[in-house]
Amino acid sequence: MKYISTRGSAPALDFEGVTLAGLASDGGLYVPEHWPRFSEYEIDAMAGLSYVELAVKVMGPFVAGSLTEDELRELCTRAYGRFSHAAVTPLVQLDQQHYVLELFHGPTLAFKDVALQLLGRLFEHFLAKGDDHLTIVGATSGDTGSAAIDAVAGRDRVDIFMLHPKGRVSDVQRRQMTTVRAPNVHNLAIEGSFDDAQAMVKRMFGDPEMASSKGGKFRISAVNSINWARLMAQVVYYFASALQLGAPHRKVAFSVPTGNFGDVFAGYVAAQMGLPIERLIVATNVNDILHRALSSGDYSAGTVTPTAAPSMDIQVSSNFERLLFDLGGRDGHAMAEQMRGFEATKAMLLTNAQREGAAALFTSARVDAAEMSGAMAWAARECGEVLDPHTAIGLAAARASDVAAAIPVVTLATAHPAKFPDAVERATGIRPSLPARVGDLFERTEALVELPGEYEAVAEFVAAHATPSA
Ligand SMILES: *Cc1c(COP(=O)(O)O)cnc(C)c1O
Repeated sequence: MKYISTRGSAPALDFEGVTLAGLASDGGLYVPEHWPRFSEYEIDAMAGLSYVELAVKVMGPFVAGSLTEDELRELCTRAYGRFSHAAVTPLVQLDQQHYVLELFHGPTLAFKDVALQLLGRLFEHFLAKGDDHLTIVGATSGDTGSAAIDAVAGRDRVDIFMLHPKGRVSDVQRRQMTTVRAPNVHNLAIEGSFDDAQAMVKRMFGDPEMASSKGGKFRISAVNSINWARLMAQVVYYFASALQLGAPHRKVAFSVPTGNFGDVFAGYVAAQMGLPIERLIVATNVNDILHRALSSGDYSAGTVTPTAAPSMDIQVSSNFERLLFDLGGRDGHAMAEQMRGFEATKAMLLTNAQREGAAALFTSARVDAAEMSGAMAWAARECGEVLDPHTAIGLAAARASDVAAAIPVVTLATAHPAKFPDAVERATGIRPSLPARVGDLFERTEALVELPGEYEAVAEFVAAHATPSA
């Protein structure tokens, strides 16, 4: 399979190339040259497969030419062996119409593990072939940092430097990063805000002393959801849950707590591959740029309001560009033009083709704090299910939607409630406890380096501890 950039001027790459590159060199995002499509008969034959075997079937067309089926199976077996539930992503029924798909049984209790556990192993596999080293640099305000660290800890050929704003992440989130002890993991607590840390990461990607793409010493890479391999891994659980609910003979709708548009875009991919998806509900909190874009065509960034669902507190959704590209007739030059306008003014209008194409599959809802708490309280009281704030936003949007009663609606449960104990307790009176396998989090020793909020100090630290590119 070949991949092309949404902005039309970067070279086409194979799966190995896009996995290691992350972002395309023209600033765009990589998408497959065409969508592989399964027949109804082929989807029917997937019923009853284990999660790993289903993953091999669904991801097979995307990795063709870069991994053999046996290599893919081996990597999936190891990645999904880290999950604490035999089903990997179990489906739980709430009432006659509503279900939650629990995506939080991985090592760091958030859905990002599903993709990152595989991505860490893909990096190692491809780097070993090319005898190269990767230096992952990221800034985190929470979930991504811990999932990425767990995914690459102890792996050959990868060093990770994760910056977090000192004193501004929760104790659970910090400890999930700093108690992972491996020589290739470096936690940097930076003076300043998340945006300051993020700005340093961006600067390092363009630093001619540091980044090999600019002539520097290190092959610097990112692990955020612009990486195609992450989205690909997320397509699998749409198939897994829909098959359990009767696909391909029955349609299924999904409600997805959305931030960067990665998770819900994986649902769009599943639909292109032939899975009968009735509708994708994009659930946002009060940071509602996507809701405005999908309901009125107005994609304009405001300022971020902090909420109880911090992983959805975004201004700009990077992966939305992939959808706009696909719906706009896959015209890279037009897309580059549209994005140039957005970058200059922080606002753009969707074209008619983009609006109509999106409306055929997507609806959206903006969920405020009271509606989120209400959904959490309802699930706890009526169904005995304790949900985290992100999942509760998805459920509130699902219950408010007008999907026909005969069609099941699956809300993606993106985080374990124990990651957000205060918000959950306020809404339900129940204080969720950490699962036994991470229950000693507060006894483990932390390792972190404190650095001033200066780029030079961070770059010097990375240069002293990373392995140069081959
Ligand atoms: C990252 C995250 C989201 C948002 O997912 P996107 O793919 O960025 O839309 C939602 N909930 C939780 C708990 C997350 O960690």
